[in-house]
Amino acid sequence: MVIEIADNLMQGKRGLITGVANDHSIAWNIAKRLRQSGAELAFTYQNEALLSRVEKLAAMAGSDIVMPCDVENDDQIENIFHVLAEKWGKFDFFVHAIAFSDRNELIGKYCNTNRQNFLNTLNISCYSFTHMCRLAYPMMNEGGSALTLTYLGSSRPVPNYNVMGVAKAALEASVMYLAYDLGEYKIRVNAISAGPMRTLAGAGIGNARKLYNFQAQHNALNRPINTEDIGGSGLYLLSDLSGGVTGEIHFVDCGFNKFSVTLPEHI
Ligand code: NAD
Repeated sequence: MVIEIADNLMQGKRGLITGVANDHSIAWNIAKRLRQSGAELAFTYQNEALLSRVEKLAAMAGSDIVMPCDVENDDQIENIFHVLAEKWGKFDFFVHAIAFSDRNELIGKYCNTNRQNFLNTLNISCYSFTHMCRLAYPMMNEGGSALTLTYLGSSRPVPNYNVMGVAKAALEASVMYLAYDLGEYKIRVNAISAGPMRTLAGAGIGNARKLYNFQAQHNALNRPINTEDIGGSGLYLLSDLSGGVTGEIHFVDCGFNKFSVTLPEHI
């Protein structure tokens, strides 16, 4: 099945999508929406186990640019931008939807985090965005946009989110510094702070189902967020519609972050 193009908001725009593992991935749901608006896309995959799945999804999005990229491997990161330089020259946007931590540390107390997993989590989930922005911006057109994904656990302790929350705090600070740095080149940098979604990464957090249900029941709209919510906000932040928006952490969580007490029966 090929994704039908429904409007031309992203016609003539090209961009890189990282972090697709399967069709539940947030990155894929943003990619799908971008493609429906006519964007031309390139994809990365983390390892061989994911290659055939990412290739199939890329083909649905009309793309045959599928490149290996484990962000612990500098050569692979650099290779992405060599390939894009050859294929496209310049491009307009990129999505960073990459995070990892040892799941044994995504349960229980944060204070038990060991140094190695702390550094590894920050390296994969935070530093990789800075690294990619540094390589990407010289190849991005004016008006370009970079987007990463974060979660409320960056600014409030969420049970079991632990070291990932610390990595997301650093990632959100990076968004602001990168927005400042790249503003000179008229490139915008933003993050979506998504409510819990049922993805591979989401399932790695201890008691994920309880967290998902709790947030779905205790927000202003009294529902979980869905793939259209994510796709639409991604499209907005990566298109010219958000031309004056940079350094922003944009919540897509049905309002959960705005309330201290939300009674389900009251909504
Ligand atoms: P996902 O498992 O579909 O995506 C995570 C991606 O990270 C995978 O594609 C995986 O291959 C990639 N990855 C992990 N380690 C990597 C490495 N070393 N090199 C390259 N890629 C690597 O899950 P998702 O929920 O779509 O996660 C995407 C982003 O959204 C993550 O940053 C996550 O923290 C964030 N997020 C998720 C939720 C949620 O509830 N699912 C909520 C808020 C934010």
